[in-house]
Amino acid sequence: MTLAILGGAPVRSKIFAGYNTIGEEEKQAVLGVLDSGKLSKFIGGWNQYFYGGDQIQAFEKEWAEYFNVKHAITVNSCTSGLYAAVGAIGIEPGDEIIVSPYTMAASATAAVVFGAIPVFADIEEDHFCLCPKSVESKITSKTKAIIVVDIFGNPYNATEINRIAKKHNLKVIEDTAQAPGAKYNGQFAGTLADVGVFSLNYHKHIHTGEGGVVVTNDDVIADRIRLIRNHAEAVVEAKNERNIVNMIGQNYRMTEIEAAIGRCQLKKLNNLLEKRKKNVKYLVNELTKIPAITHSGPRENSEHSYYVLPFKFHSSLAEGIHRNNFIKAVRAELAPTQYREGEGPLLTMGYVKPLYLLPMFQQKIAFGSKGFPFSLNPSISYEKGLCPVVEKMHFEEIFLTSLMEGQLSQEDLDDVVKAFYKVWENRKQLIGKEF
Ligand SMILES: *Cc1c(COP(=O)(O)O)cnc(C)c1O
Repeated sequence: MTLAILGGAPVRSKIFAGYNTIGEEEKQAVLGVLDSGKLSKFIGGWNQYFYGGDQIQAFEKEWAEYFNVKHAITVNSCTSGLYAAVGAIGIEPGDEIIVSPYTMAASATAAVVFGAIPVFADIEEDHFCLCPKSVESKITSKTKAIIVVDIFGNPYNATEINRIAKKHNLKVIEDTAQAPGAKYNGQFAGTLADVGVFSLNYHKHIHTGEGGVVVTNDDVIADRIRLIRNHAEAVVEAKNERNIVNMIGQNYRMTEIEAAIGRCQLKKLNNLLEKRKKNVKYLVNELTKIPAITHSGPRENSEHSYYVLPFKFHSSLAEGIHRNNFIKAVRAELAPTQYREGEGPLLTMGYVKPLYLLPMFQQKIAFGSKGFPFSLNPSISYEKGLCPVVEKMHFEEIFLTSLMEGQLSQEDLDDVVKAFYKVWENRKQLIGKEF
């Protein structure tokens, strides 16, 4: 059977159904807010509206209850939430913050916006979160915090990383954009560190278009995050706030419309996760029958939330065929997904390039043209080869798929499996070819 990438007929040409969690409930909730005429009640001053309107406050209360955490603070994106979290823990320009290189860029740039210097540690070979050993090896007298990421929906190694943080008196910020509902030792991801930040952008499990929620059990950090969210500089005096470090406030406020949608979305999270897990179980079972494909499963004592489903491809077990050529051949057998047609089949080689390879770090240009804040630590290195595991995972081994979201039928999953099997059984056709 000729492979589609070499001109044969593909396994599937029918587009996959899109992931859409918005329904009648959200529509009614939004109409309610529109009828009120008050689309946001926030005011950047010290009065009753400093904490936002009814929908915001109800959503924050429900989020805190669901995730069993003292404070939930809505923001207009996970990026804003990460920025506020870094400001809230009292970072100084020139401080070092240890970050993961395998994540969405904001989890590292959050350090830069307060003049801190991101120091990249390597990731784990099996779970792709920050590797505790590598983190510990990067600690210096300037290290103040660690930003961990629950990447792909897998909680970070909280036991080890929190132990290291405690030993060296560091704060931990958890970027849990990809892991709402994931758990570690029975505790929700996002609540495993000093501060956790969720995303509600359109691509996440549940969403409000754009949005985010910061959670913490620390009253002081919570207060500082609420200030940074809402024009701190204009509020601290009336509020009688003495600590004005990093209180250059922003406008990170969510609207009443988004909060109303978020309240409906949160109610759907459990069910959405269950459907994903069922599909994941089937795909993992079927795809790992291919000898060159492995999947390491969730971390011990944890529950994965599968933002995306990671596998590894081992070209040494596939006649030397590179992962990229194999996955390109599988992609050619499949069709795009509704709403994301431009991306082709939702199956990717690696994730994002290790972050230290971005121009900002390669050229050390962020604020202005003279190298600030990197100039505060001239010996900081971002050269290629800095984190060998992430480079091997990204450029050689990992592939990810979203073709396990809850809306997909058994027939859809069977087509995905068929595409992989077809390419595997006919892999000799790929030998010596580059695509
Ligand atoms: C999506 C994402 C973010 C950013 O979320 P926004 O709400 O778009 O700002 C940050 N970190 C990770 C790991 C993400 O996946």
